[in-house]
Amino acid sequence: MSNNNWESFVRRVEPYVPGEQPTGTDVIKLNTNENPYPPAPAVRKTLDDFNCGRMRLYPDPDSSVLVNAIAEYYNISPSRIFVGVGSDDVISMAFLTFFCSDKPVIFPDVTYSFYDVWADVYRIPYQVKPLREDFTIDPEDYKCENGGIIFPNPNAPTGVLESVEMIEDIVKANSDSVVMIDEAYIDFGGESCLPLIDKYDNLLVIQTFSKSRSMAGMRIGFAMGNENLIKYMNDVKFSVNSYTMNHLTQLCGAEAMKDKAYFRETTDRIIATRERSKKRLGELGFTFTDSKSNFIFASHKKKTASEIFNKLKERKIFVRYWNKPIIGNHLRISIGTDDEMDRLFAALEEIVNE
Ligand code: PMP
Repeated sequence: MSNNNWESFVRRVEPYVPGEQPTGTDVIKLNTNENPYPPAPAVRKTLDDFNCGRMRLYPDPDSSVLVNAIAEYYNISPSRIFVGVGSDDVISMAFLTFFCSDKPVIFPDVTYSFYDVWADVYRIPYQVKPLREDFTIDPEDYKCENGGIIFPNPNAPTGVLESVEMIEDIVKANSDSVVMIDEAYIDFGGESCLPLIDKYDNLLVIQTFSKSRSMAGMRIGFAMGNENLIKYMNDVKFSVNSYTMNHLTQLCGAEAMKDKAYFRETTDRIIATRERSKKRLGELGFTFTDSKSNFIFASHKKKTASEIFNKLKERKIFVRYWNKPIIGNHLRISIGTDDEMDRLFAALEEIVNE
């Protein structure tokens, strides 16, 4: 045994566990809410035209091309947009920037399982608030003293969408703390609370290119809010790493944002597949929330979630399952192509009738 004591000073944390990324060609991957369709065609062209010699230079630290494309799409000033390496990076920066009080940050007990990890790694106190039986949020739970608020809308992994009115009620009641709405899945039929940033200087709306824009592998996320909020986030970002977003990503992201027609076509297709999937899952004996995201959170009336999960995996169909209280009998099934969903339903039909 050594006498060295360095391990007493290690920042220890229980890390977030991302969904499995199985390899192989005959796999049906419905476990990490990726988009089943490729990115907009202009992204392909950007890759083809890319001047590799440009790589010798550092990228634009302000990611202006990308920020301007997002600003144009949403018709807001670029000074109200912060971009990062996936919304995980954006939310992590936002935690570091705004959740800096001794009071606890609050979020739901069933939610994105990265929030408590960021709170732990940054030593931020937090408190979870139980969802109601139907997995909705009780806004009254968010009207107590707190050091900040975050939840996804629609929530993950439940897919439940809350109204803009309800969110406004929470934002209004919390003028002394920053309220973050994680809109990772908002483009699949939800109403964004983005217009509220004109009215409230304590609201940060966070979105991603990973789901509705088919670019999980590129890692692009962004936050929109009052100019002052964005300035504070950039101050922290530039104190950690100026060059978070690489040059190629900035170009591809900007092109993806410009193609509105492709975006609408692919998200509409996913919504249609989701609604058809709900019908079929119902026929197979599943119950589920009325998801407004690109996944369905379902449990079966007779078979346990863990049994179904394992039997699907044997058939190389991957969905997400958490062996955790409250959600331990649910599966989160990402919406794939119609063909992938049909193959899932064929497998489920066998499994539930065994
Ligand atoms: N928020 C929620 C609710 C999510 O489900 C995810 C996806 N894991 C993210 C944020 C992060 O997505 P990304 O970093 O790919 O933008």
